[in-house]
Parts: sequence; structure tokens; C-alpha cells
Amino acid sequence: MRVLLGLGSNLGDRRRLLAEAVDSLSGVVAVSPLYETAPVGGPSGQGAFLNLVVEIDSDLSARELLGVCQRLEAAAERVRTERWGPRTLDVDILWIDGVTVDEPDLEVPHPRMWSRRFVMAPLVDVAPDVAPAGWERQVEGDVRQVGRLDDEDS
Ligand code: ATP
Ligand code: CA
Ligand code: CA
Repeated sequence: MRVLLGLGSNLGDRRRLLAEAVDSLSGVVAVSPLYETAPVGGPSGQGAFLNLVVEIDSDLSARELLGVCQRLEAAAERVRTERWGPRTLDVDILWIDGVTVDEPDLEVPHPRMWSRRFVMAPLVDVAPDVAPAGWERQVEGDVRQVGRLDDEDS
């Protein structure tokens, strides 16, 4: 089944944290470019996010995928508690082909994805067919593309 995951990091070695998370995923089909997003609101001094979207081919259920997301976050959090503050890694299930889940702790498609440019911009790079027509008019926030995870520098 075709699955889209959204990953973000704004603390620590953001690229390395994202790269390690992507590397530990099974069935990766495509990885979007990286987008840098200035955080809106939240605590002052919070650094910019790096975001990307990954398409995977997976036989896991939505709930099993949530477990995968939480394990990736826990792995990054272990690094974080030793050296950095909160929010080293966020992994959200954005969309699963043909699957809708509406439970208190799991909603698929992710209900806020359609209005977030930091989600939709990388999503359109890997899965343009999933974005609704006119998606650009529904999104808010500024992003800028900053290369790819596997770029040597920057
Ligand atoms: P947002 O969901 O607005 O992006 P967030 O990612 O910062 O906010 P978290 O604190 O990471 O929120 O997650 C809160 C809870 O959201 C998780 O414990 C999880 O149970 C729930 N959740 C519901 N739907 C999803 C989904 N599609 N992907 C990941 N988590 C989800
Ligand atoms: Ca999120
Ligand atoms: Ca999350």
C-alpha cells in the first residue's frame, strides 16, 4: 500500500536526525527535497524546521504505522534527552491510499496537512496526484527548498 509520511526536525543535527529516520524506514519509494520553515508562534528562540515527505510501500496497518512513527521519534528523543531540548523529530502519517481512520489518537489522512505549506510543498514533489486541485490556495506559511537529504554540503 502506498503511504506518505511527513517528517520534521527543528533541534539538534536536523539533517542527520531526518536521514537516520528515513534510513530506518522499510519500503522507501521516494524522498522529497528538504524544506526549511520558520516556526510560527511557539517559544521564542525556536529554530527553523526542516521538513520532508517520504513515500513508502508498506503492508502495515495504519496503527502499525503509527507505532513505526513513534519508534522513530523515540529513537531521536533518546539522542535529544542527552544533549538537546525537545522536538528533535516529528513523524506523522499523512495519507494512506484508500484508508481513512478517525479515532481519538489516530486520524488519517492527517487532518491539518491540507493547510500546511511545509507539508504540501514536499508532498507535491513526491505525490502530486494526492494534492487536491488548487492546493496552493489552501496552504499557509512560508517554506524554502534547501536541497536534498543526500546533498554533501549545506
Ligand atoms: P500535529 O498533529 O498538528 O502535526 P504534532 O505532530 O506536534 O501536531 P504530536 O505531539 O507529535 O503532535 O502527536 C500527538 C498525537 O497525535 C500522537 O500521540 C498520535 O496519537 C496522534 N495522531 C493522530 N493522528 C496522527 C497521524 N496521522 N500521525 C501521527 N500521529 C497522529
Ligand atoms: Ca506534526
Ligand atoms: Ca506528530
